[in-house]
Amino acid sequence: MESVFSKIIRREIPADIVYETESILAFRDISPQAPVHILVVPKQSIRNLFAAQKSDQMILGELMLAAAEVARQQGLGESGFRLIVNNGEAAGQTVFHLHLHILGGSVLTPRIV
Ligand code: AMP
Repeated sequence: MESVFSKIIRREIPADIVYETESILAFRDISPQAPVHILVVPKQSIRNLFAAQKSDQMILGELMLAAAEVARQQGLGESGFRLIVNNGEAAGQTVFHLHLHILGGSVLTPRIV
């Protein structure tokens, strides 16, 4: 089932895009939970980590490196940032297209782990 992120990737609905490569897109969350709140998504649709296959190893690595690069570009290189991946409904996943949340720009609370 297609998600809203596929539409953003195809430019069918607008988003505040901050970073793009051949395989990855990053854009600002529509409902930010921190001064910097950016979603990093693979252009290929993977439902979540449970759906990821061995053949997705490369894109999963690219996602992590892209998150660090986006955070750097957003000025979080010194202060740091938090990365969140919600997997499944109990974790609060609402959009079923794998994505990393980059959160930063202030001291982040509450700290769960
Ligand atoms: P999750 O709850 O981990 O699945 O995260 C989904 C995130 O996508 C939420 O933080 C939403 O605010 C965000 N979101 C939903 N629709 C859009 C959209 N059209 N543009 C940007 N962010 C969105």
